[in-house]
Amino acid sequence: MTKFPSRVPKNPRIALKHGGGGRAMRTLIEEVFLRGAEDFSIDGVGLAAMADGAALRLGDQYLIVTTDSHVIHPLFFPGGDIGRLSIAGTVNDLAMMGATKLLGLTCGVIIEEGFERSVLERVHDSMRATCREAGVPIVTGDTKVMGKGELDGLVINTAGFALAQRVVRNDGLQAGDRIIVTGTVGDHGLAVMAARNQLALEGELKSDVAPLFELVQRALAAGGDGVVAMKDPTRGGVASALHELAAKAGVGVLVDEPAVPVSEPARAASELLGIDPLHVANEGKALIGVRPGVAEAVLAAVRAHPLGRDAAIIGTAIAEPKGKLVLDTGFGRRLLAEPEGEPLPRIC
Ligand code: MG
Repeated sequence: MTKFPSRVPKNPRIALKHGGGGRAMRTLIEEVFLRGAEDFSIDGVGLAAMADGAALRLGDQYLIVTTDSHVIHPLFFPGGDIGRLSIAGTVNDLAMMGATKLLGLTCGVIIEEGFERSVLERVHDSMRATCREAGVPIVTGDTKVMGKGELDGLVINTAGFALAQRVVRNDGLQAGDRIIVTGTVGDHGLAVMAARNQLALEGELKSDVAPLFELVQRALAAGGDGVVAMKDPTRGGVASALHELAAKAGVGVLVDEPAVPVSEPARAASELLGIDPLHVANEGKALIGVRPGVAEAVLAAVRAHPLGRDAAIIGTAIAEPKGKLVLDTGFGRRLLAEPEGEPLPRIC
């Protein structure tokens, strides 16, 4: 009798998909980095929650902490650059946790030998401008240089610190809750792909990279405790982020596809590249899960902000099927599979 192994053997090497923000990355984190997480009991939200950041109790409030490394290629892309991305990405993760007061960021840079100083200055100018826009300073940092060929250009890590009175967890959805997206989807990933492939596209396709702290403050002010889940749909896009929100809350999400805002240039690029905008990274968008009674008030508050003009209600949490997305195309319904990860590496 043939014996089959009880499980598929793990690949002994790390693949690019393990950094893709989807199922492969989550499995790697669970199998490697979560080992021993139970050794510590956290008063708040710790590593095991695999949220956008941690929330550590500090008296009657929470210290929100997050960290993010940025490896994007190319360093400069339509609508942004690695400097803006490194600030916005971290500010957005703080905001997604319910932060109401930004305290500071750290910045660690690793530079390849031979990198042009003028380019580094441009990146830093962009970081400063984005810090001003978000209203948060860089308070400490670290600089390392590696030999030529030992890394590709520049890697930036930022960590962020903020305070919250109430943590918005990413497992808070219940059946009936509405899902708001704060604007058009797929712009960042498609703009970077188009730049990398030197696609000539009609219209101006630009990354949406932006700090969302102020916009999220307006949503929190309008929705109060009715804001029950938030996530920025970065790698793997809206599809990946909604799968995560659904799985953690033990609900399904019915996605109203015709309601999903997609810019014309992004739609054109997605058709050319054969990639669904729902699967592509955003860097200036949030998914906000709200109780139905506050949905219209939160939507109106988000739309009143310049970064939220195209916001829309794109879905509803449903009791079944748990952990899955049901896409209502307007012509019928089908399951939307969870992406393995971002279709392209080095997108953020
Ligand atoms: Mg995030």
